[in-house]
Amino acid sequence: MSGEKSLFTRIIEGEIPSFKVFENEHVYSFLDINPATLGHVLVIPKEPAPYLHELSVESASEVGKALPRICKGVLEATGATSYNIIQNNGSEAGQTVFHVHFHIIPRYQDSTHNFTWKPLKLNKNDASLLAKEISGHIY
Ligand code: AMP
Repeated sequence: MSGEKSLFTRIIEGEIPSFKVFENEHVYSFLDINPATLGHVLVIPKEPAPYLHELSVESASEVGKALPRICKGVLEATGATSYNIIQNNGSEAGQTVFHVHFHIIPRYQDSTHNFTWKPLKLNKNDASLLAKEISGHIY
């Protein structure tokens, strides 16, 4: 990892302006500059980890605690009743800013954004081995 500050750390530190909606000791939240829909906000830990699996337990739990509160605020402010949470890790997954962030994207009747995939069939022969393999790597 380079020693350079991420774009989002620069936002947290006020070096780059943002439209803040929430802040506490561990978490910062602000409007996305290119919203998918009205009320699209980003929720970030102040800890500058690029990927979710690198976050400390403390930061992860603080983000987890803040997310439902911020979702509720977005819904009450926009009148939306549906929303998506998107969290990209790695450029192949569409991540462009390498500082953990959760997108809260309200969904309205006329919203057209899409996060679909072609569902495969779970291979039942491999599934129990795969589940054990993943399970064995959760510490
Ligand atoms: P991702 O593609 O998941 O890495 O999302 C990065 C998000 O950061 C995009 O939705 C951008 O629109 C948003 N973004 C980039 N720069 C800024 C900024 N200066 N202020 C607010 N949002 C930003």
